[in-house]
Amino acid sequence: MISKRASQFTSFIVMDVMAKVEELERRGEHIIHMEVGEPDFPTPKVIADEAIDALSRNKTRYTHALGLLELRQAICDFYQKEHGVTITPDQVLVSTGTSPVLLFAMLAMLDSGDEVIVSNPRYPCYQNFILAAGGAMKEIRTYPEEGFQYRPEDIKKNLSPRTKAILINSPCNPTGIVMTKDQLREIARFDGPYILSDEIYSGLSYDGKAHSILEFTDRAFVINGFSKLYAMTGWRLGYLIFPKAFSAVMQKIHQNFMISANGFIQWAGIAALTKAGDDVARMVQIYDERRRYMLARLKDMGFVIHVEPTGAFYVLADGRKFFTDSYREAFRITEEAKVGVTPGVDFGSGGEGFLRFSYATSMENITEGLNRLERYLKSKR
Ligand code: PMP
Repeated sequence: MISKRASQFTSFIVMDVMAKVEELERRGEHIIHMEVGEPDFPTPKVIADEAIDALSRNKTRYTHALGLLELRQAICDFYQKEHGVTITPDQVLVSTGTSPVLLFAMLAMLDSGDEVIVSNPRYPCYQNFILAAGGAMKEIRTYPEEGFQYRPEDIKKNLSPRTKAILINSPCNPTGIVMTKDQLREIARFDGPYILSDEIYSGLSYDGKAHSILEFTDRAFVINGFSKLYAMTGWRLGYLIFPKAFSAVMQKIHQNFMISANGFIQWAGIAALTKAGDDVARMVQIYDERRRYMLARLKDMGFVIHVEPTGAFYVLADGRKFFTDSYREAFRITEEAKVGVTPGVDFGSGGEGFLRFSYATSMENITEGLNRLERYLKSKR
């Protein structure tokens, strides 16, 4: 029998869209991928070379449970340089992606029935991490006209003695919105619960820097990783920064459940943080060109962009003038227009009527994909 808990896990709809796309491709159809949330760039050579070098030096063993000290120090140096905050290596856990550290953060802070505040819409996996740790998600509706940001008074209304954390994500998947300093400061003022800040798209911002919650409070857990900024999704490398008091428990959790992250890949992680700056700058510039182009085209077609997204590589576009059921529409666009897109409802009821477009694909693909979409929309009028 499948456990009650496991049967409550929700599916990640974008993966269903990708499965549909694959099925069409197997039949010989040519599909443009605007549903995927992973960089189309190859991993920068300086990073790959470091992994090869580490392999040739037999860096193929377990490492310290929290991660290689050299990598954890490099992460501390990175947060110092980027955000002016001082953290120490005993506050860092390196694991195989940010996904596992999200689970470990929940395991470390939640007792059965404890609550985590999340926005609606949001990254769809969050609720399942909370559920896996026996916690409960407390959803707060956010609105497109306000850049899908929490209203502090709504947070206040939803706080209870069981609230353990408020989850934020800036730059955000799916909205592409970057929180301002003032918005972060307002969230940091809630000094009861921890702030759980998913900063995996940090560095991918196109109108000034994205700030870290650590600039405003140290009652925070920060999730970050290498998948997006360094085009390293398949390498599986991410990390968690946590308050010092959690050091021993984090070490215990990781020893038991993972032992350690991959040795030679952690060496490559050091190269990413210290040597890949030029590669990142080049990718950021290209993403920004794509972003501007995509926004202009989507607006021209009649999609509404309430607040301009300036981060990550997504646009969450309001298509309520064309459709109401984003799930049905996303599959129809995939099948008829041959363009993969993600339905807004994947991110919660607050995303209904929206579609998420990813610009982590070439300008050529974006142009062709948007041409197809435009033709499709015209044919429906
Ligand atoms: N958080 C957000 C907001 C994401 O979009 C993703 C990847 N789609 C992750 C976390 C997980 O990333 P990874 O496990 O590859 O580090």
